Amino acid sequence: QHVAPADSKVTPMMAQYTEIKTANPDSLLFYRMGDFYELFFEDAEIASQSLGITLTKRGKHQGEDIPMCGVPVHAADDYLQKLIAKGHRVSVCEQTEDPAEARKRGSKSVVRRDVVRLVTPGTLTEERLLDAGANNYLMALTRLKGGSMEGDAIYGLAWIDMSTGSFQVSETDHQRLAADLAQVSPRELILPDNLLQENELRLIAEQPGGALSPVPRAFFDSSTATDRLGHYFGVKTLDGFGTFSRAELSAAAGILAYIEKTQLGERPPLDPPVREAGTGRMLIDPATRANLELSRTLSGEKQGSLLATIDRTVTGGGSRLLASRLAGPLVNVDAIHRRHDAVAFFLGNEIMREGLRQTLKGAPDMARALSRIALNRGGPRDILAVAQGLEAARAVLDQTGSVADAIPAEIAAARASLEGAPHDLGTELVSALREDPPLLKRDGNFIATGFNADLDELRALRDESRKVIARLQASYAEELGLRSLKIKHNNVLGWFIEAPSAQTEKMTADPGRFIHRQTMAGAMRFTTTELAELESKIASAGERSLAIELEIFDRLANAIIGTGEAIKAAAQGLAILDVSAALAKLAQEENHVRPTVDDSRAFEIKGGRHPVVERALKKAGGDSFVANDASLGPDKDGNTGHIWLITGPNMAGKSTFLRQNALIAVMAQMGAFVPAAEAHIGVVDRLFSRVGAADDLARGRSTFMVEMVETAAILNQAGDRSLVILDEIGRGTATFDGLSIAWATIEHLHEVNRSRALFATHYHELTALSARLERLSNATVSVKEWNGDVIFLHEIVPGAADRSYGIQVAKLAGLPATVVERSKQVLSQLEEQDRGSRAESLIDELPLFANLTPVAATASAEPDPVLESLCDINPDDMTPREALEALYRLKALS
Ligand code: ADP
Repeated sequence: QHVAPADSKVTPMMAQYTEIKTANPDSLLFYRMGDFYELFFEDAEIASQSLGITLTKRGKHQGEDIPMCGVPVHAADDYLQKLIAKGHRVSVCEQTEDPAEARKRGSKSVVRRDVVRLVTPGTLTEERLLDAGANNYLMALTRLKGGSMEGDAIYGLAWIDMSTGSFQVSETDHQRLAADLAQVSPRELILPDNLLQENELRLIAEQPGGALSPVPRAFFDSSTATDRLGHYFGVKTLDGFGTFSRAELSAAAGILAYIEKTQLGERPPLDPPVREAGTGRMLIDPATRANLELSRTLSGEKQGSLLATIDRTVTGGGSRLLASRLAGPLVNVDAIHRRHDAVAFFLGNEIMREGLRQTLKGAPDMARALSRIALNRGGPRDILAVAQGLEAARAVLDQTGSVADAIPAEIAAARASLEGAPHDLGTELVSALREDPPLLKRDGNFIATGFNADLDELRALRDESRKVIARLQASYAEELGLRSLKIKHNNVLGWFIEAPSAQTEKMTADPGRFIHRQTMAGAMRFTTTELAELESKIASAGERSLAIELEIFDRLANAIIGTGEAIKAAAQGLAILDVSAALAKLAQEENHVRPTVDDSRAFEIKGGRHPVVERALKKAGGDSFVANDASLGPDKDGNTGHIWLITGPNMAGKSTFLRQNALIAVMAQMGAFVPAAEAHIGVVDRLFSRVGAADDLARGRSTFMVEMVETAAILNQAGDRSLVILDEIGRGTATFDGLSIAWATIEHLHEVNRSRALFATHYHELTALSARLERLSNATVSVKEWNGDVIFLHEIVPGAADRSYGIQVAKLAGLPATVVERSKQVLSQLEEQDRGSRAESLIDELPLFANLTPVAATASAEPDPVLESLCDINPDDMTPREALEALYRLKALS
């Protein structure tokens, strides 16, 4: 056994450090030492690498050097931000007593320290650590075993944005889980540690890209969940909040337990949990969400996403609301109409809209300021933010008050929440705060002059004393004949008289009056009784005025917290107005129209455009976007499930067309107007896409595997209310494999899923299917040939492409002329051989999908005796015994 030498005994400080570190094992420990936070051991190594700061050593522990790095307290936020962005958690450990207190206990005593906060990606509230326009969600995931089968598990979800207090819960199943996680896209996901050990679940949990934080299973104990929630919200029963399932309660309890753990006693002000019924949103799986680049492009950037393209909001709250509406489009027709009404209102009232937007532009982020104040992390600027937010609320009320036409429900509701805001408090806050207050309340000087008489008096005293000091300096200088004499201040000596050493003989001659304090190089410092008296007057005036300011701060903060609900509602009201006005602005600038949305299975788009591509073309200033129609509604007999099969050369605009129709559906159902001349959409409950191809190497899947997994999900889940977009299925494998898979996929979509679908393909053979599948229409993108080159017209027209123009496109791309020529020769040879063996012939040879659609399959065959006698049976008229006999009869026939 190695015995540590006596001189390397653990220092009291290291002992304290080790104790605190042991209690906070899963995070980096910021250990406060004077003006620095220091990190030791492995934490220091991780932090120095993540932050690019120097790793040094401090002392020894059991004979070994202790690795150490430190960050200055004043810049700690920046470093925190970097660490959090990389998914780390940080425990902030502060000194909890004055060092003088520790010294009193004895020379060896260390200052008491304690972790005051655990900073994690999902629990941030600091303005500098947050993205103003994005929600910062913490989410909890839990699983309850339902039913008897393995796949019957029920999942509970709860998510909170601590910076605004919103709190939602929902319940879901294995199939929908990934889509539900992707909709919220949390910064941090907490889940019971045993779930994280399951490979498949871990992959699903990792997908949205947030940090994963495993927590003990006990956090999610559903038997005590009701109590935990009741306790948090100070209510005896949760009945007032609505009813929740066991899974939802468990997730809600888990997330609260985690918040209590990370906030160490502080209770962030949360709204009571709201149940988000899973059926209330259009289901968009993670692959579709990514492929359609709804809020991020495939390369992960915001710029170029649909969200960035349509965002015309002017406030942080509005921008967050728009993002969450886009992430979860509605399926309830009335709710969608309500939003459209609000947009239409602001489209028709342009002057009002622009005035409103002007007011909102200057309005601060009231919701986030409120949260910081309630968490005891607020400063004078947060109080000012609430003050100005309330002022904006009042201005907005005035601006939106008088209109000729009726105010739509959505806007009336937003106005009602503005009316309910504590406007008197707002007036008081405005008069209380200085216009440009410091960040920290301990710096003082944030209360306006004229707000508190005592404070004004003390400040006058302090300022007066400064003048007295100036006069004193003048009189000493004159008396001693020393023009260079100055009265100065520093933190060690306080106020003192300073004069060049060579000229101080008069002062040193009178030590009773001029008390010597310090000798510097070239100067000497003195004080006098007069000066000392003045000094204590100034100091106590300063201290007393700070005390009064802090008292006022607490009173105002409490008044704000006391009306927190109303303030939060007003902030939400402003966000709703911002979003409605912004969507109206967008519609006006980009020529969007109000879509007709109903519960039919219609999908009629006239003159549809791709908002992102259109914008890019506009910016580039070249060709303008070519608008195109889509018509996937029921046929005249009401049969649903229309498929358009689109062929055409590469670069013609197939993908653009596919995506634009999906985006139009998303925009319509999120409550926006759409880039089209006309649109009629029967609510889409699920949106599926299989577009592009990207290797998912992290999961060890090839392009082809990814494609097949996504296609399988579509064929297994899509229904007659879904919209399906399939681009180039089967591209990742050999031609015949790919063609066969695409062929069978179309048949399945047509016969079984009956979804509205757009299918782009480079397999021209598939166009033959339209002869047999009655709701399959062929469409192609028109091109013009010009002296052997192709010109893309980007126009979708009925029919099939006759050629793929691959060689022409290759030529456009700059393939050497010799290669282009040679390809043409090879092609014509191949076409010669291929003649006669075309897919048309297959149509007659392959019966349609016999196994999956028994009813359709009988059309061609002889009458089936089993089926015939089945038709004769009427189960409602049978006794159990007759039913059993019928079953024996049928069995005998087969
Ligand atoms: P495909 O899927 O057929 O290979 P894309 O949809 O990727 O073709 O389109 C290729 C390019 O053509 C796009 O990047 C865009 O610049 C242009 N384009 C596509 N559709 C249109 C359109 N309707 N109007 C104008 N330009 C378009």
